[in-house]
Amino acid sequence: MNVIMKFGGTSVADAEAMDRVIAIVRGQLAASEPSKPPVVVVSAMSKVTDRLIESARLAAEGSGEESARILNDLLQRHVGVAKALVTGDRLPPLLAQLTSEFSALLETARTLARHREVSPSSHDAIVAMGELASSQIVAAAFASKGVPSVWIDARTVLVTDDEYTAALPDMEATCRRTRDLVGAQRAAGQVAVLGGFIGATAAGVTTTLGRGGSDYSAAVFGACLDVEEIQIWTDVDGMLTADPRVVDAPRLVPQLSFAEASELAYFGAKVLHPSTILPAVAKNIPVRILNSRRPDVAGTMITANGRAHDGLTALACKRGVTVDITSMRMLMAHGFLRRLFEVFERFKTPVDVVTTSEVSVSVTVDNPRRLDDILGNLRNFAEVACEPQMAIVCIVGENLRADPTLFARAVSSLERIPLRLVSQAASRRNITFVLRDSDVPEAMGRLHAAFF
Ligand code: ADP
Ligand code: ASP
Ligand code: MG
Repeated sequence: MNVIMKFGGTSVADAEAMDRVIAIVRGQLAASEPSKPPVVVVSAMSKVTDRLIESARLAAEGSGEESARILNDLLQRHVGVAKALVTGDRLPPLLAQLTSEFSALLETARTLARHREVSPSSHDAIVAMGELASSQIVAAAFASKGVPSVWIDARTVLVTDDEYTAALPDMEATCRRTRDLVGAQRAAGQVAVLGGFIGATAAGVTTTLGRGGSDYSAAVFGACLDVEEIQIWTDVDGMLTADPRVVDAPRLVPQLSFAEASELAYFGAKVLHPSTILPAVAKNIPVRILNSRRPDVAGTMITANGRAHDGLTALACKRGVTVDITSMRMLMAHGFLRRLFEVFERFKTPVDVVTTSEVSVSVTVDNPRRLDDILGNLRNFAEVACEPQMAIVCIVGENLRADPTLFARAVSSLERIPLRLVSQAASRRNITFVLRDSDVPEAMGRLHAAFF
């Protein structure tokens, strides 16, 4: 089968994990047509992105040496893994490459620290190192272990806009380059290995797609190559009925629809980056979530229609911020909502949940980065209250449409937990509750017990 395989941070966390990846890819290669070997996308090794962000933060604070120390520790970690996996002639150039790239970054961090400023593009240049390093190691390890492979710098393939730290792919330009660069290597029987999460502007400046963005990269490349399946290999068996960090022993969801997966990913099911589904939908390519520690488990299959079953499909939760906007001036006035949403648009901040009454509007946003600016602007024409420490709990299922008792059951299972907002969209595929963050574990536990 013609597939793209994305391996997340824990799946490439160390030499042992990478060995498992090699075995999985070898198996897939054996099952593929010679001219359609799998394409592999990898994340940074586990926790590396967090450390790189920390190093950028330290540089911005002027702590150049601390920032440099993190980068040096990361270099040592990568060198250790490279030495454990890569053999013969391939090792010295790989070590030289890693050392030179980390050293350049170290100098950059020291310079940035002297100016106490890290611009968004410098931030991306630092953070991209995680995927650059892991993908080069994986490609060399494949070759060392007899899997014909070639490393491709994802920044030469994935073309994005210049919205650093949250860049958007330019599908047309990216597809052209994917077919040229990746397609040519595939036709020659090589397993192309690329870093996820990273890209570059048309002018060649490094960008990143936002946290968890490697899934999105894989879906973009997969759509450009018209693969038959986008595989997301991770550290759980698939999409679970709830976040395993919040609910004990959630169950595996064997199949779900693109729409259900989008809602779940958007409202907190971290196993899938919310944008992953977009390219898959555009080309109607199934997405499968699999466990790299238990490759024999069938995982979760995400397709256009999903599968009919009783009850709900899954729950999700997202810890966020609520902005509460009340305005008497909304009474009988038209244009109020337009003005309100224009403010969010100006500050490029997506709104997740909206409820309105005649005199008030409540919205939630999960990215508080521009919140102060937004609130300041809103206060020009509305009374605004902002309540932090709120969270979204979302129940998802195609059945919500057909079975009105599900909603009643959900609300009654929540009993005395105060609900701040309740919203059901026209799709009627999900119902969203906004409640206090401290109530999330109990709310999720109750809902899970009621439905699964
Ligand atoms: P990767 O590094 O492979 O991309 P992530 O940490 O981004 O992995 O995503 C996998 C994690 O997502 C799981 O370990 C789990 O804790 C979390 N998660 C949250 N909600 C869900 C859910 N509904 N189903 C599965 N995993 C979930
Ligand atoms: N390494 C990036 C992150 O940690 C991207 C990813 O893992 O998908 O956010
Ligand atoms: Mg992820």
